[in-house]
Amino acid sequence: MMGDLTKNFSRREFRCRCGRKKCDAAPLDMRLVTALQALRDVVGHSIDVTSGVRCREHNRRVGGAPGSKHLEGIAADIQCDELTTLELKRFAEEIPAFANGGIGIYDWGIHVDVRGKRARWDYRTKRK
Ligand SMILES: [Zn+2]
Ligand SMILES: [Zn+2]
Repeated sequence: MMGDLTKNFSRREFRCRCGRKKCDAAPLDMRLVTALQALRDVVGHSIDVTSGVRCREHNRRVGGAPGSKHLEGIAADIQCDELTTLELKRFAEEIPAFANGGIGIYDWGIHVDVRGKRARWDYRTKRK
């Protein structure tokens, strides 16, 4: 599938999912999309964005942290059907903007962001 932002990613995949007409989410930062495309290229399989930009209301609704990087348009929650969460995380560590950014591990996949400094967390409840 061709994207309208990069080869594989489209703007609609990142937009806030609050459903409000007056959504006041921050703009999507292209550094995030560029890093995700680099990840997509090394992974070689499609990557699903389950959450991209969020306005405060939506972030609250989905239980996001108050200082969530999704509020700044620099974070995405992603998963890949062909890889385990840890495999996807390992690939993300190869992308400089994520290696020097935030990577969080969850049961459903990983969070990545381009905050410009290293942050890591592991919120899995199931360990394999
Ligand atoms: Zn919104
Ligand atoms: Zn996230």
